[in-house]
Amino acid sequence: MKSMKKLLCISALLLAGCGTVPTINMGPGKVERMYVIECGENHVKDLSRWTPGVNVGMAHVFSDHCYLIKHAKGWMLWDSGNADRLAALPNGLTAPNGIITAYMRKPLLESLKEIGLEPKDIRYFAMSHSHGDHSGNANYFGSSVLLMQASEYAAVFGPEPQKYNFVAANFEQLRNARVEKLNGDGDVFGDGSVVIKATPGHTPGHQSLFVRLPKRPPVLLTGDMVHLVYSWENRVVPGFNYDVAASGRSIDAMKEFVRQTGAQVWVTHDRVQHILIPKSPNFIE
Ligand SMILES: [Zn+2]
Repeated sequence: MKSMKKLLCISALLLAGCGTVPTINMGPGKVERMYVIECGENHVKDLSRWTPGVNVGMAHVFSDHCYLIKHAKGWMLWDSGNADRLAALPNGLTAPNGIITAYMRKPLLESLKEIGLEPKDIRYFAMSHSHGDHSGNANYFGSSVLLMQASEYAAVFGPEPQKYNFVAANFEQLRNARVEKLNGDGDVFGDGSVVIKATPGHTPGHQSLFVRLPKRPPVLLTGDMVHLVYSWENRVVPGFNYDVAASGRSIDAMKEFVRQTGAQVWVTHDRVQHILIPKSPNFIE
């Protein structure tokens, strides 16, 4: 077991907290498996926008992932990636300010289909936050129960979503969805196996997701609390975050949470870290 753990540590950029994680708590969770779905790429011209003070002028490719969880009580989808319609654009879609080009190589619908699912099969839908690279396909999930922080909900469906860099059109089908508004953490299935952690800062109601897997250590899916493993390790957040100070506090709180739970930290936009993680239709347990 010990050498196995060591091996895991070595294979892992996966393990942001490696070496400081003595306990593997398998817990009582009833998660059966989790699929990591490639949900696009974002090519940027100057990485220093995301890592203030370093990587100035350096081009970078951010990965983008969706995570699909099979729990005994139903399916949950975390984040929805870049919009499927971008799959028709081989050169991607460049933002008007020219700093990001977004790609979607394989539509999310196709990835779900490969697993035998349609959007209506998703019981719970939650996004780390409401920016376009996480809400691109949100409109598919109007029949799911939406799990969102009340503060994020107010920003998205309030009078000025654009003030938060949210695109109202991405949420049209969610306006009448069943919603559970959260004011903090939320235990999705009531058994501690999938827990939404409030991590405000990047947006007003940004959230991260803790998942207890049946055969391996739990994971914490960061969303954009941090954009790279580097950012997690160095407590670095972009200056354009909604609340920079709150962003730092969220990282501090999650560091303590990870220390307590032994969770591995998976950074959705860190392409290098995710190279080693099996992708859908393969799954992890
Ligand atoms: Zn993002």
